[in-house]
Amino acid sequence: MARADLRVVNARVVTPNETLIGGVAVTDGTVVAVGTEQNLPDAERTIDAEGNYLVPGFIDPHVHWGLSRYEYEYHEGLAHDFETETRGAVHGGVTTVVNFLLQPDPYLPDMDYFVEAGEENSYIDFAYHAIVHKDHHVDEIEGLAEEGVRSFKIFYNWYKHASPELGINHSDSGRVYTVLDRVADIENGVVMFHAENEDLAYERRKELKNEGRNDLEAWSESSPNVAEAMQIENIAKLTEYTDSTAYIVHMSTGEGVEICERYQDRGVDINAETLPAFLAHTNDEDLGTWGKISPPLRGEWSKNRLWHGLREGVVDYAGTDHCPHKKPFKEKDGGMYGDVWKAIPGDNNGIEYFLPVMMSEGVNQNRISMERLVEVCAENNAKRWGLYPRKGALVEGADADMVIVDLEKSAVVDDDFYHTMEPRYSTFHNDKLNGLPTHTIVGGEVVVERGKLQVDKGGREYLSRSADGVALE
Ligand SMILES: [Zn+2]
Repeated sequence: MARADLRVVNARVVTPNETLIGGVAVTDGTVVAVGTEQNLPDAERTIDAEGNYLVPGFIDPHVHWGLSRYEYEYHEGLAHDFETETRGAVHGGVTTVVNFLLQPDPYLPDMDYFVEAGEENSYIDFAYHAIVHKDHHVDEIEGLAEEGVRSFKIFYNWYKHASPELGINHSDSGRVYTVLDRVADIENGVVMFHAENEDLAYERRKELKNEGRNDLEAWSESSPNVAEAMQIENIAKLTEYTDSTAYIVHMSTGEGVEICERYQDRGVDINAETLPAFLAHTNDEDLGTWGKISPPLRGEWSKNRLWHGLREGVVDYAGTDHCPHKKPFKEKDGGMYGDVWKAIPGDNNGIEYFLPVMMSEGVNQNRISMERLVEVCAENNAKRWGLYPRKGALVEGADADMVIVDLEKSAVVDDDFYHTMEPRYSTFHNDKLNGLPTHTIVGGEVVVERGKLQVDKGGREYLSRSADGVALE
């Protein structure tokens, strides 16, 4: 056997077929062997995993780079966030990201810039979804698919009452029908949905404000579980009618799990993603405005139902909805317990806490097996977004993106825990997380070793998503 560049040995290697005691060998950034130590070639460098897990790097399919409008214009912000937030990603064990493009202008004229911004600034390979919120975006769907963007997100009713300066338009059932129908003709095309009914939330917000409420639970009550359930039911019906493919982003409710299960049983191609925040938190926690996310945190029943959905295969995907903002912008001068209605929604640092929270709340609390967790956080995301088997699995021929995870290593999330633009807040601040990465390897390169960054930014690749998965070379 030819000498390899790198091998990781003495690991519990999670592969699509089994978890084996052994290791992985890498040459030129590609996995060349997976097996017991005696069956691996010698290598220039060997890392002893000390009996810990070796898993494919997690894939975060849901982030929003470039929206810190208070400080940067969108294009400049996109380049900025690729550097700061994917630096956090590699410390946390995420090795591929799919970012949502969001601008009022058409996307196609700027595709070269979007590719360059990532390639020059990212620490990890990346792909894109596009948010369709103007009629001219609908007309770009086929062109974007040719550029490797095959997923199109819609705000269905949500943002109907948003202020115009936000620059985002909601979609009505007519546009939802049109987009589902057009995307049904695109191979591996997916329509992604933010599922909350703003007509209902708008009335509830008025009532709660009139009652003088200004607390995190009021934010949850302003968009009750039924607001999500109403939209998912409509999405499922229209997906069935158009014979298309739908994907519910950041599903937060137990009702959502039950609706998806009912339509999946009928053969409707409706898929669901949930977030670590909904699997770890409930709406009665003392998180102040830092806990204001959209959709809001829910109760214990929904949290448990989402875990159950993940285990049983109704919810097949996890992502983070990481939307980076500086703390003062999140708090709007009101501090952590400021005005919950004025604070901007969204959580910070998800891409870095993704793997640690899923290990801590999931595997280490026996809510999910390591193998199923790797499916929903890596393998399934690669398959859904046309990146498999190049990404998402430790198999021969795949990119050598992998993470050693020590389930007994723990840390408290303090002001120095994250390595992003803004480490000082997230919904996990002051929590103790059990189960952390010790090494993150991207394209065969050790990029983080025991908490220390080893490489410079840039030199990563835009992943133009294929019709049915990226073929091995
Ligand atoms: Zn989002």
